[in-house]
Amino acid sequence: MSTLTIENLTKRYGDVTALENVSFEIEDEFVVLLGESGAGKSTLLRCVNGLTEPTEGSITLDGNSVQDCDSKTGMVFQQHNLVEGLSAYNNALTGALDRSTTIRSLFQWNDRDDKLRALEALETVGLLEEAHQLVSQMSGGQQQRVGIARALVQNPTLLLADEPVASLDPSSAETVMEYLKRAADVHDVSALVSLHQVNVAAHFGERFIGLRDGGLLFDVKRSELTPEL
Ligand code: ADP
Ligand code: ADP
Repeated sequence: MSTLTIENLTKRYGDVTALENVSFEIEDEFVVLLGESGAGKSTLLRCVNGLTEPTEGSITLDGNSVQDCDSKTGMVFQQHNLVEGLSAYNNALTGALDRSTTIRSLFQWNDRDDKLRALEALETVGLLEEAHQLVSQMSGGQQQRVGIARALVQNPTLLLADEPVASLDPSSAETVMEYLKRAADVHDVSALVSLHQVNVAAHFGERFIGLRDGGLLFDVKRSELTPEL
């Protein structure tokens, strides 16, 4: 369980204000971030992941600035960013590398805990039997599940996903979302997932945060919505 606290977050790129004065807190929830293209979803996730520095405001995870502890979040990308020439297992294992380590060193990797974590993560996303397949031979949905496994190997206290199912057909999208939800449940962590498909969001979200033009448009829990949604 973990607490993400975003306070008065503003991010500008030169003259472009991508986020303005956004505040919210997440504790032990599966949260969907909604918004049209350009609303600021990627920027928000990148700030939370420590990939981008806020212009103003603060982001803390369990009281620590995310700029100091970027290893505590695990990120799943839209274009899965896997290494095509490596197996699912080795791709999952790259989650255990710090940023200065080379891919080559994976082949002499000795940390038994990391190896076990990679296998456990593949099991969580239903790909244990495919562990030694090259990701280049896998379907888009399977590749995205390897991306989830890699994020889990980082031992995150918060899972982040930026449009994880945007490039998948509706049925693969549902499957990937089911595994993402399972991953968050098994690891008992919160998730912040950006989506633009409202039907997918409605099916999986426990709380919905909407952005428009860099500002918070709505923030509602599933329990506050009418039952027919
Ligand atoms: P979304 O993920 O909701 O599509 P983004 O966070 O990608 O939104 O973008 C929010 C706004 O910030 C857009 O106007 C976009 O063009 C702008 N933006 C995003 N990244 C950059 C960047 N690196 N440099 C300049 N402008 C950017
Ligand atoms: P998304 O809508 O999924 O966020 P984008 O196509 O907006 O994806 O952005 C992809 C990449 O380009 C990101 O790294 C983002 O920061 C950068 N980017 C987006 N808009 C701009 C922009 N106006 N100028 C420079 N970089 C941008």
